[in-house]
Amino acid sequence: MSRQRKTIHFDTNPFICEHCGLTVPSPLSGTKNRNHCIHCLHSRHVDMKIGDRRSGCRGIMEPIGLWIKESKECAVIHRCQKCGFIRTNRIAGDDNEVVLFTLAARLITQLPFPAKVALEKIERQQTGGTR
Ligand SMILES: [Zn+2]
Ligand SMILES: [Zn+2]
Repeated sequence: MSRQRKTIHFDTNPFICEHCGLTVPSPLSGTKNRNHCIHCLHSRHVDMKIGDRRSGCRGIMEPIGLWIKESKECAVIHRCQKCGFIRTNRIAGDDNEVVLFTLAARLITQLPFPAKVALEKIERQQTGGTR
């Protein structure tokens, strides 16, 4: 009888993304518990807490933002389209850089005020701030 079995499990199997329909390959070593698509960064609302698979929602989680932590670690902010649950998700080494960049750019270009105005203000502060 073996008593060494552990109940914690990480998803290491490839899966098909419900948003874009592409296959998400097994995570590279060092990436554990990835649950978002590397192509479109969408995820699925299956956890109450990371990895527990206890949520019955199963809604598609859409990437709504990026969170750069102090350690320069980058996380995607996901929001469930069904129930509005918000969660952060560490990005993986093989995530699509173009999609990540688009997400970051969208945050700037879809501000409620023109990014140009803010950038010009910043520039003015930098150049004309000293008397
Ligand atoms: Zn996808
Ligand atoms: Zn949900």
